[in-house]
Amino acid sequence: MSPLLTQLQRSSPTCLSSATCISVAIFSHHQMSTNARSVASRLSSSGFIRTQGFIGGKWVDAYDGKTIEVYNPATGEVITNVACMGGRETKDAITSAHNTFLSWSKLTAAERSRCLRKWFDLIMANKEELGQLMTLEQGKPLDEAMGEVTYGASYIEFYAEEAKRVYGDIIPAALPDRRLFVMKQPVGVVGAITPWNFPLAMITRKVAPALACGCTVVIKPSELTPLTALAAAELSIQAGIPPGAVNVVMGSASDIGEALLASPQVRKITFTGSTTVGKKLMAGAAETVKKVSLELGGNAPCIIFDDADLDVALKGTMATKFRNSGQTCVCANRILVQEGIYDKFSIAFSKAVESMKVGDGFVEGVAQGPIINDSALHKVESFVQDAISKGAKVLIGGKRHSLGMTFYEPTVIGDVKSEMLLAREEVFGPVAPLMKFKTEEEAIHIANDTNAGLAAYMFTTSIKRSWRVSEALEYGLVGINEGQISTEVAPFGGMKQSGLGREGSKYGMDEYLEIKYVCLGNMS
Ligand code: NAP
Repeated sequence: MSPLLTQLQRSSPTCLSSATCISVAIFSHHQMSTNARSVASRLSSSGFIRTQGFIGGKWVDAYDGKTIEVYNPATGEVITNVACMGGRETKDAITSAHNTFLSWSKLTAAERSRCLRKWFDLIMANKEELGQLMTLEQGKPLDEAMGEVTYGASYIEFYAEEAKRVYGDIIPAALPDRRLFVMKQPVGVVGAITPWNFPLAMITRKVAPALACGCTVVIKPSELTPLTALAAAELSIQAGIPPGAVNVVMGSASDIGEALLASPQVRKITFTGSTTVGKKLMAGAAETVKKVSLELGGNAPCIIFDDADLDVALKGTMATKFRNSGQTCVCANRILVQEGIYDKFSIAFSKAVESMKVGDGFVEGVAQGPIINDSALHKVESFVQDAISKGAKVLIGGKRHSLGMTFYEPTVIGDVKSEMLLAREEVFGPVAPLMKFKTEEEAIHIANDTNAGLAAYMFTTSIKRSWRVSEALEYGLVGINEGQISTEVAPFGGMKQSGLGREGSKYGMDEYLEIKYVCLGNMS
């Protein structure tokens, strides 16, 4: 395939007929890195790479035979073609999920718990293969990918335990001859739509609590990273989760989304992705009044106060900014540095950023992989150009990496101002904008001056300030002297336009449960 054709298709993936795709030999391109190529062929021959959708426990092609290419973002080469599905397959997946719901929801919590626990065990037993698959299709460094497998699996382990704790209530009645009860019941079939940046964890954060509650699911992973989702679905069957409880359809996002929204059998939509798509889904869910959870974009402030421990601040800021090459919703998007520590911090931070190794995630020591695709790369470039044109200064990086493809130099930009795109929107790339501030009040004002409200960070040694500022920040998550705070045991979710609902922890269960009040009368 010509590099130009590859680039074009990576920018705007489209479904192809099977016949067209036969000419695109799987794993055959001579330029694919040796490591990636050998990993891909090993995973393929061991059956770990699945290319069909998963409906009712069966692997199925798209009904019209169409397929879509899945790329390795580090090399630009096609890994394989997967089924490109749409509305018809989604409807069948919903029917299958609905039929299975009738039996799955009737199992005891202990029975569901055992299945989930087995799924967790199998994911952990296949951690290396899943990590390799993720690096192949998403580009993140292998260690980071294996870290995501552990993190993603932790939700399954946690909710296997939580399944047994769906308690109801007995309410003291207002009348003497009545007895009042509250029971919690699974909502029903769940449509789960997930992004490419965490190909496993964004799925398990939804599917594990849904299954634990007794719901069944139709998953739509991103077309950019379907392979990890399909491998996880295969392991769910091996774990004894019944056919139809977990279904995976991928392909046309709008057709699949519409089918999920239109179906009265789908009682819940859970989505992680951009705020723009989240708003569309929320509007679409209104037609059948579904429950909705939305994990949307962020614009995380990371505030470094003069009284911060510099080493802790450096380590924490590096961790939050550069995870997954800056492509996470909780990545620091604006680094606010108080004027007394600004110069010292920016010099030390730039030095640390410059030392990061960029490259193919399979190469030893690589800390930064590629950006997911060309349009994401163009966005990063345009944000940096906008900042430069408005007076910001490039301290490190600021351009495409010499490796080519979508690799971008880890970048630090100084003197960023509130009106620049870098401060107003998620850059979703390895670019760290530094903004100088004078007072605590000013920092809080800048931090809250956005429609987003997902994660915020601060570095300070003052316990009074850390409490005061935490209360003032309009964010769902606050990290104090720590850059990586997400864990299965704590609630994750945003305020304002960063979303609705919470994932993880005991609160994550409520998203998949209905509360039913039962009144027993005439008891005297
Ligand atoms: P996206 O474009 O919104 O896509 C997310 C998912 O929605 C993908 O599966 C996508 O399918 C699907 N989709 C797109 N249009 C749709 C439609 N009309 N109907 C139904 N589904 C549709 O977001 P992304 O670029 O993949 O992910 C990056 C965004 O996710 C960032 O804004 C990031 O902040 C956010 N994010 C938030 C969290 C959180 O927990 N708050 C976590 C991770 C990421 P295709 O990919 O197949 O087109």
